[in-house]
Amino acid sequence: MLQLAAMNLRPRFLLTTALFFVIVAVPSWLAVRSMAESIVEKWAVRYAEKQVLYDKSRTLQPILREVALTRQLANSSVIRQWAQQPSNPTLTQNAINELESYRQNFHDKSYFAGLLKSGAYFHNNASNEYAGKELRYVLNPNAAKDAWFFDLIRQKRELHINVNPDLDLGITKLWIDVLIRDGDEILGMTGTGLDLTNFINTVVEENLPGVTSLFVDHAGAIQIHRNQKLIDFGTVSKATSQKKTLRLLLDRDEDLTAVLAAMKSLESQEETVATAFVEVDGKRHLAGVTYLPEIDWYEVTLLDLDVLLPLSEFTGLVLLYALTLLGLLALFNIALSRDVVMPLARLNQAMAQVETGSSTQIALDTLGTGEVNQLMQRFVRMSQAVMESRRDLEAKVQERTAALERLTKIDPMTELLNRRGMLERLESELQRTMREANHLGILWLDLDEFKDINDHFGHATGDQAIKTIASLIRQAVRPYDAVSRWGGDEFLVMLPNATQLYLDALGERLRADIANCRKLTADSGEVIAMSVSIGGYLQTSDDTIDTMLERGDQALFRAKALQRNIYVAYEAKTPGPAQ
Ligand code: GH3
Ligand code: MG
Repeated sequence: MLQLAAMNLRPRFLLTTALFFVIVAVPSWLAVRSMAESIVEKWAVRYAEKQVLYDKSRTLQPILREVALTRQLANSSVIRQWAQQPSNPTLTQNAINELESYRQNFHDKSYFAGLLKSGAYFHNNASNEYAGKELRYVLNPNAAKDAWFFDLIRQKRELHINVNPDLDLGITKLWIDVLIRDGDEILGMTGTGLDLTNFINTVVEENLPGVTSLFVDHAGAIQIHRNQKLIDFGTVSKATSQKKTLRLLLDRDEDLTAVLAAMKSLESQEETVATAFVEVDGKRHLAGVTYLPEIDWYEVTLLDLDVLLPLSEFTGLVLLYALTLLGLLALFNIALSRDVVMPLARLNQAMAQVETGSSTQIALDTLGTGEVNQLMQRFVRMSQAVMESRRDLEAKVQERTAALERLTKIDPMTELLNRRGMLERLESELQRTMREANHLGILWLDLDEFKDINDHFGHATGDQAIKTIASLIRQAVRPYDAVSRWGGDEFLVMLPNATQLYLDALGERLRADIANCRKLTADSGEVIAMSVSIGGYLQTSDDTIDTMLERGDQALFRAKALQRNIYVAYEAKTPGPAQ
């Protein structure tokens, strides 16, 4: 589950849709199968019904005609009287005439008649072979070949239809036997034969592929089948275990039971056709069974479902369904991928860019649709806002850093450069001066007797004095000159591109400006006089900052030593105060 949760959307959706496909497809396939089977079953039942009606109306008609004719013959009073008195020559002659007239009508142009009382067996055939000698022989109750006659009499079956090979003629005959009765008394049996070869050709061989029609008796013994080897010839005289039954065709005992049950169900039910699913040669068949009362047989129609209505026909349908489903799922996936997964992947990428700050411009080429689109738009706006505020913040930080930086180089009271700021300027200016072969001048100022001002007028007035002097100096210099409060009551002025003349003039002017200044007043309103001592130095090519400062300081020192309120330019040979 964890793994699934960690999966990317696309494989996850693919997996989900595949699962969905299986979940939908398997029950659908089963449903279609069972639907198909039920359709096949319904269809097969109707087919079996139609088949039977068709067989009955068209092909069984000749047999039914022969059966009707035979019944009529057996019921004839001439025959019945003769059967009561078999030895009466007149009745015998009348009977033979009657038989002869029926023979003309029988399809096979043959008849037989057996009389129980005398055992006499009469027969004539199509070629009128036995004219005048119709009495063929006397039936023997103990002879095996005559057993059929006595068996049928004993069974008291009104009509019996039997298939037997005629060994003499080499053909298979369908024998139609009808009892001759007088009331309840059984007097004998008469009947005709029908060449089965023709019948088999028309009824049981003319079927469609996958359809096998056969006829069985009550016990399931096969009476007619296209394969004559399966026909249970002489059924009537056999024990059940020796009969060739449907079991020969069916794979399992329960199949036979099912067919027999279907046959049985026809007795009680109104239906004309009963069905049962059976297996023949390992294949599913539907057995349609119908009863033919005229001949007391059952017609069994075995329908090979695989041949007649193969389920594979439905495979195309299922395949189409599966393909449609797969196609839909694929389309769904494509749409999902285009509208959701791809935009989200892009969004993810873009978010990473915003997170790491690796991109300043977020442009999403795919924005998806619907809620995803709204999300993306929101993200674009949000990321722009984030980046803007980041830019603002950075600018502010830069600004503040610069301000802080400046503060570290500025003297807060006078807002002049402090010593550190001035040293930086000196360094860069000295380099430039060296490059351009100019001269850099410095003026070093120190308030005279400043302690006294502090002492007499207070520290605040002292501060005021410092500020006033700072302002005087700033006003006196050129815009590109730099002024600093070097510390306490000392100021250092840097003059790029200076000459000794300018240096001296400015030094003197500053001294005079300060000495003549009337701006500093005490609390009492009294004007306080101030003065400065100034040392000046014009840099030469071999100077460093240290040497410049040192020489400026020497000049200032000299000014202080001389008299104060004086400008003194550095002179190399100037002897120091210590000298
Ligand atoms: P000199 O003529 O020798 O320079 O005498 P001076 O009294 O000015 O002596 P010095 O320059 O050595 O003294 C500097 C005095 O400046 C010491 C200190 O009390 C005072 N001072 C330094 N910084 C400030 C400040 O920011 N405000 C005030 N009011 N006084 C300051
Ligand atoms: Mg001083």
